[in-house]
Amino acid sequence: PVRLGNLSAGFADRSVLRQITVEAPAGRVLAIVGPSGCGKSTVLRCINRLHELDEGAFVSGDVSIGAFSAYSPRADVIALRRRVGMVFQRPTPFVTLSVFDNVASGLRAQRRSLPPSELEGLVELALQRAGLWREVVDRLFGSAMALSGGQQQRLCIARALAVQPDVLLLDEPTASLDPMGTQRIEELLYDLRDTVTVIMVTHNMQQAARISDVTAFLLDGRVVECAPTRQLFTTPTDARTEAYITGRF
Ligand code: ATP
Ligand code: MG
Repeated sequence: PVRLGNLSAGFADRSVLRQITVEAPAGRVLAIVGPSGCGKSTVLRCINRLHELDEGAFVSGDVSIGAFSAYSPRADVIALRRRVGMVFQRPTPFVTLSVFDNVASGLRAQRRSLPPSELEGLVELALQRAGLWREVVDRLFGSAMALSGGQQQRLCIARALAVQPDVLLLDEPTASLDPMGTQRIEELLYDLRDTVTVIMVTHNMQQAARISDVTAFLLDGRVVECAPTRQLFTTPTDARTEAYITGRF
């Protein structure tokens, strides 16, 4: 499993995350839900070291970050990010690069002596996994900016998947998309099952119910409840979870 233990973090003297502990089964989807400002994005940013944690640990197989390594001058952030990919709320393709080069960028940096034919194969595989291959096969060398918003977001997922990370972090990946774009992403996340562990932030409870295996409900920087999704939605143990699920929050 992928485990986040006792994670605490903040901004200056303000504490934002307090002792966050959650666990995602390997190859499954963990949804992190909760109202605006509760700390969802900060959790993902800590995992990927875009934000320093004050204490706590993140463990996935042999990938681990903790308070000591996070502050270590020898900390290898690049190595961590090869194992833990991230996709943001708004699509963030490299604007000057082609579709192909967006997906190839991480592979080129990581495996300099990769033969071109192998690189092409891995780019195709990543685009297939992101459900984008058929739509872009005839415009691989055109600008990434010529794609629609939903396609750009799937391109970002392909770019993250290309280096075959163990964990994929998604921060409100469908928030800027229409229903069709949203559905495509939900389908591809379902299809990624068993190949990568997904931690997805969403404020959309229906989305969490549709695609996650485990859901963590955060409130004011704390985990109120973390349980198998069906259980959390049908028999929440905390009155605040129930209030949030039923929209009476
Ligand atoms: P949303 O659903 O609106 O995206 P969120 O749950 O992702 O919210 P975070 O972005 O993690 O929330 O923010 C958690 C808390 O940290 C908020 O109270 C926010 O005001 C605070 N915060 C976020 N970024 C900063 C920053 N750069 N400096 C100071 N405080 C910040
Ligand atoms: Mg956020």
